[in-house]
Amino acid sequence: MGNDWFYCISYFGTEIGTWLNELVTKLLHLSSNSFLLGLSSEDLEEFARREGEQAFRGRQIHEWIYQRGAKDLDSITVLPKKWRDSLQKKGIKIGRLDEIERIVAQDSTLKLLKGTVDGEIIETVGIPTDKRLTVCVSSQIGCPMGCRFCATGKGGLSRSLDVNEIVDQVISVRETMNRRPTHVVFMGMGEPLLNIRNVLDSIECLTKDIGIGQRKITVSTVGIPDTLPDLAKLAQERLGRVKFTLAVSLHAPNQDLRKSIIPSASAYPITSLLKDCKRYVELTGRRVSFEYILLGGLNDKDIHAEQLANLVRGFQSHVNLIAYNPITEEDFKRPSQSRLNSFRELLENKGVAVSVRASRGRDKDAACGQLRRQQIDKMNIN
Ligand code: SF4
Repeated sequence: MGNDWFYCISYFGTEIGTWLNELVTKLLHLSSNSFLLGLSSEDLEEFARREGEQAFRGRQIHEWIYQRGAKDLDSITVLPKKWRDSLQKKGIKIGRLDEIERIVAQDSTLKLLKGTVDGEIIETVGIPTDKRLTVCVSSQIGCPMGCRFCATGKGGLSRSLDVNEIVDQVISVRETMNRRPTHVVFMGMGEPLLNIRNVLDSIECLTKDIGIGQRKITVSTVGIPDTLPDLAKLAQERLGRVKFTLAVSLHAPNQDLRKSIIPSASAYPITSLLKDCKRYVELTGRRVSFEYILLGGLNDKDIHAEQLANLVRGFQSHVNLIAYNPITEEDFKRPSQSRLNSFRELLENKGVAVSVRASRGRDKDAACGQLRRQQIDKMNIN
């Protein structure tokens, strides 16, 4: 965990000015053991030229990767066989991941487990409704934040995901459900602000190469000290106007309760978090969404609703209430429907914009990281 905090602070402090340089050098580094998934059409044209091919070959690769879902270079049959062989010899790959398991819940929610080249497992969820297909993507393998209600947090962090591993999740859900995703939420495994460069690069790829509007993308965080204003600046630098939604996982209306549920909150007082959120709103002109998981008997009382209303009142924001999805490792309870309704009404009566997010796929362990943990346990037993 210490390394991640260090990485995050040094990243935000030193890399703002060097990002453009990195983009320029990205293609120079594309020489061995590299992945094409995540590169733009312009990047791929430049890649083709550097390989001594014409630029249109790069556009062909782009179409086959993003539209046709090519999984390996050999399947891109429009490319000359000699060039395909040469790229493979150099270790250049598309960068798609192998499917390990897929499970479909009674409400059609899809859970996908994908295997990485270094033997890790990534969990992705596809949530369909009549009008939408939302993909809940992971930004890290595991998570260092240790939220007590979360199965992912139990196992700690393995590593952050690369751009190809994030984009693959969205393409894989599209293929598996045979339907175009409309929304992407960075609410799967991991803390996106600890992998912000790859998250922002993925957002750029999802918008430009896969055609998902930036307004349909949500980045969720439990909060990393002093990073939100810099996130606004980095996102503006990378994406132009910031249009994605920032969702801050609050889950408690006061510092004492919050740090008892989210251990990492000890280093980030709730007042500082709210101050940084206000600054983020000023810098981006975008409202912030506050996520609040209702844990029966713990943070779902009237007094908590009143404290929450006072905290976000007069703030350009929205509160999303989510009823807790029990995990086996912890003793938290799901609140009753009537408690959930009362909590919501109390907030509304205080003038807070609020909605209730439905839990999906409950019969198939939808809670963050549950499926992956079960798979790891299964592999350890077998
Ligand atoms: S809820 Fe999110 S931030 Fe917290 S441990 Fe789980 S994955 Fe990490």
